[in-house]
Amino acid sequence: MDWWVSMPKVELHAHLNGSIRDSTLLELARELGDRGLVRFPDVECVILKHDRSLTEVFKLFDLIHILTTDHETVTRITKEVIEDFAAENVVYLELRTTPKKNVSKGMTKKSYMEAVLEGIRAVTTVEVDIFSEPNFDCPANAGIYARSDGCARNGTAKKKIYVRLLLSIDRRETTEAAMETVKLALEMRHLGVVGIDLSGNPVIGEWITFLPALEFAKEQGLLITLHCGEVPNQVEIHAMLDFLPARIGHACCFGEEEWAKLKSLKIPVEICLTSNIKTETISSLDIHHFADLYNSGHPIVLCTDDSGVFSTSVSGEYSLASSSFGIQKREMFQLARNAVNFIFEGNKVKLELEQVFDLAAKSLE
Ligand code: 5GP
Repeated sequence: MDWWVSMPKVELHAHLNGSIRDSTLLELARELGDRGLVRFPDVECVILKHDRSLTEVFKLFDLIHILTTDHETVTRITKEVIEDFAAENVVYLELRTTPKKNVSKGMTKKSYMEAVLEGIRAVTTVEVDIFSEPNFDCPANAGIYARSDGCARNGTAKKKIYVRLLLSIDRRETTEAAMETVKLALEMRHLGVVGIDLSGNPVIGEWITFLPALEFAKEQGLLITLHCGEVPNQVEIHAMLDFLPARIGHACCFGEEEWAKLKSLKIPVEICLTSNIKTETISSLDIHHFADLYNSGHPIVLCTDDSGVFSTSVSGEYSLASSSFGIQKREMFQLARNAVNFIFEGNKVKLELEQVFDLAAKSLE
């Protein structure tokens, strides 16, 4: 097995509906096609197209959501996505998804998330830890320290993956809708929800619309990651950095001033190489900011973004970074290990993950 597959890895930027297997999407499209709800050949063509601009990606998500937004399918894709990440030795996964309403399916944001939790419980190929450490600084958390049975269920020496959830706010949402998502996250924090993500088409929506919900989330002790600088919008980038999120994703369209600010604030960056190249937010890996951030020792973590949509994997991202930037196996291992510092979890989980990496380090020698 290649070292980039066998070594333990941490995935912190993975969108549920972007991480679906092509085979599952095609199966779902065929079913809807048989029922006359979509034209299968058209959908097949869109699913199998591999290079798409950022705008096309969001059109694809609208199509994916038509195929997946019912409870049973949400459960299925959650199970499959976790099993796929575990199969390539992801030991800690922060999976993000946008809670959705679908009146025709009787779906509320809460029932959507319950379907996600059901998918986590349905995982069979790996032991899943969905236990979340409480943030004792936050009064809202007192007394809700509970353990899911996910970890204990199998009780064997099976491989283990920690799964935590981030609830995404879509930039198309209103302040009220964003607040509803934050309140749901707070309600579900004992079930492995550890934070909030702001994502969706970066040319839609205003930062000011989401700010009240994000501030409330922060006050309540949820950790926040923001899609930041996917398009050139210097005012928004500065406002986002001033908010002091716990992490940001992408950072593709930063100018000198923004880099200086990011570096002085030491905000970790989730780097998604394949996604950035395929969506053409960065024209080539030669000029990707990974190199500068890595060389300057800025906190970074390699992630997939949408492993299904961009036909990639966490292992693939490590292999790509290694070959593109000339980084050897030992340094790549250290990069994977450093990601433990940026997870939205407490010291207990961090120490447990350190042990996983210690053990794996022995086989590197
Ligand atoms: P979901 O939240 O439905 O599980 O995952 C898909 C959603 O994640 C998309 O509809 C979009 O809102 C968000 N998303 C996925 N990939 C990207 C990306 O590269 N950039 C941004 N800004 N949002 C994304």
